Amino acid sequence: MEGMLKENALKGKTIIVTGGGTGLGRSMGKYFLELGANLVISSRKMDVLEKAAKELEQETGGKVLPIACDIRKYEEIEDVLQIAEKEFGQVHGVLNNAAGNFISPTERLSHRAFDIVVDIVLRGTYNFTLATGKNWINKKQPGTFLNIVTTYAWTGSGFVVPSSCAKAGVLALTRSLAAEWAKYKIRSNAIAPGPFPTEGAWKRLFPGEVAEKIDPLKRIPLGRFGEHQELANLAAYLMSDYSSYVNGEVVTIDGGEWIKGAGEFNTLEEVPNEMWDQLEKMRSKK
Ligand code: NAP
Repeated sequence: MEGMLKENALKGKTIIVTGGGTGLGRSMGKYFLELGANLVISSRKMDVLEKAAKELEQETGGKVLPIACDIRKYEEIEDVLQIAEKEFGQVHGVLNNAAGNFISPTERLSHRAFDIVVDIVLRGTYNFTLATGKNWINKKQPGTFLNIVTTYAWTGSGFVVPSSCAKAGVLALTRSLAAEWAKYKIRSNAIAPGPFPTEGAWKRLFPGEVAEKIDPLKRIPLGRFGEHQELANLAAYLMSDYSSYVNGEVVTIDGGEWIKGAGEFNTLEEVPNEMWDQLEKMRSKK
């Protein structure tokens, strides 16, 4: 899979990616760099960020600034913005990608475990959004937010209920600010990815024998997982000026997974051709 946008499509832009040292955040950040952006990657583990920054600079020839930050702590985000501005002058976009999640029957969760996921996903995202938005508005600078949600942000899902509640909140934040902050030339959009293999997600969502019990591939009409570049293409478009009239949108990229789960009769896929033949005969006899 190749990169989709024109060379230098993000030239001159500085983009912050939360959770940018691993998984999908790293892949999207890499493509932003390839398109000419300066990149700030931020998460809690400085060693992971430093290693990723070095590798990304080598792979792309771009500039990467790693800054440690726990997005649950508002003051730490204000520091990230200050350091990023000192290095690059101005921040143009934020990709709210960092998250935490694990599977569990909800009745087995302590209220603290519930808090941990909601605090990272929802509090972390609105913290980053509020700190950045206030800064942009004060300085009369335009900006772009891109928030990574999931398809269960609108369908809900058992066994990941804290994440489901939090991602629904992030989607509401995206749409609310798309309306409220457009007057400041601040756009807000979201992407809802289906399964894209990453070490983090696979370890937490399909651990050990769970992967043998449920085959996530069976749920996807296109019969395959997403490729990181496919997501990176979409993210780069929504971050770039090519999407300057897209605001308040959530774009699903899941091979048709959620729609298959939603359609009442979609499981009829399991019915073999012989059975359809019999049914046809029975109908023609009536
Ligand atoms: P991942 O590699 O585990 O990424 C999560 C990132 O969040 C890590 O870099 C982590 O870094 C950071 N993070 C966690 N808590 C943080 C905190 N308190 N403050 C700052 N950073 C924090 O997982 P991924 O699969 O790439 O997921 C990326 C995004 O895609 C998430 O929003 C996820 O919900 C979404 N998504 C993924 C899939 C998929 O199939 N992979 C599907 C749908 C949606 P530290 O540990 O260093 O803090």
